[in-house]
Amino acid sequence: MSIVRLARPEIQSLHAYEAPEQVDDTIRLNANESPLVSASNRFRRPLNRYPEVRPEKLRIALAERFECAPQELLVTRGSSEAIDLLVRTFCRAGKDSVLTTSPSFSMYRHYAEVQGARIIEVETLADEDFAIDVSSVLAACDDSTRLIFICSPNNPTGTTLPRRQLEKLLRERGDQSAIVIDEAYVEFGDSPSVIQLLGQYPNLLVLRTLSKALAFAGARCGAVVGPPAVIRMLSAVQAPYALATPVVECVEDALQDEQLALAERAVVQIVEERERLIREVGAFEFVRKIWPSAANFFLIEVDDATKVLQCCKERHVLLRHFGGALASCIRISVGSADENDQLLRALETLKDAPQCL
Ligand code: PMP
Repeated sequence: MSIVRLARPEIQSLHAYEAPEQVDDTIRLNANESPLVSASNRFRRPLNRYPEVRPEKLRIALAERFECAPQELLVTRGSSEAIDLLVRTFCRAGKDSVLTTSPSFSMYRHYAEVQGARIIEVETLADEDFAIDVSSVLAACDDSTRLIFICSPNNPTGTTLPRRQLEKLLRERGDQSAIVIDEAYVEFGDSPSVIQLLGQYPNLLVLRTLSKALAFAGARCGAVVGPPAVIRMLSAVQAPYALATPVVECVEDALQDEQLALAERAVVQIVEERERLIREVGAFEFVRKIWPSAANFFLIEVDDATKVLQCCKERHVLLRHFGGALASCIRISVGSADENDQLLRALETLKDAPQCL
């Protein structure tokens, strides 16, 4: 059975915005646009015109890249927007719940809070490299659990959910919950995208982004992939004209073979640098533990996180700290070889200069 029935009833019956027709080589007096084409227009499409309500050419290009059908994909303003759309589509305020694992990416909780959805948080297994215990996730679900967000590889721990565990979750929740796999970092690991499983599991949705491996965080472009009926609902909820013409054009360019080949080489380098950094950072005495990672970052545990952060900051290297269960941990994003060397030099001085603070 389709998970469309899990959506808010008013969204199930929501009609997409009826945009004025856009037909090439016509005189367009139907959208209150300006006839003035600015002399500074550096884009292929004129900026005095609205962009397409949904960028079809980009949708086709992204579907090709992510190996799904175009009707299984909605282009979004980063995967952040996809998270927001999902929560607004599926969760009635004060009634429905979103399940997240912890620690994980904070925006699932954020958008659930914005929507007034209940949040069920399931701790991962800290002693087992923050593995997700699918039995605990299943046990924590209740009748109101509309969405289960799983970040794989997980931010900030770098952990991947094994395929068999995911399939168990998909099977056991069936049409009671939509399982959303956030694959923001999938290109940096060895596991293939679970988009391959879409045909088998009608409760699976996958988030992808161009912000990481494709190096286009500034363009704000991502996608949600899933059953066409769900994609149609999400599309009806998304703002019309969500993707601006400059963004559409720069992402179309980024998806050209030459650019993709460059991005792929960059991913290989980032993975090599990640492994070098893990080795070299792990050699410092004040580093208690380093977790393996399938992403473009890794997590370390140190004797004194505040001191490490402060010392690196004084040397113009910013690292990421989280509180709570990760108070003694630091997430390090992998930079260029030069940037990583600078990080190592900053850590080196910390070793010799306990007075750094
Ligand atoms: N998912 C995860 C796991 C992330 O770490 C991030 C950004 N840090 C996002 C989604 C959002 O990325 P964007 O909106 O740039 O696609």
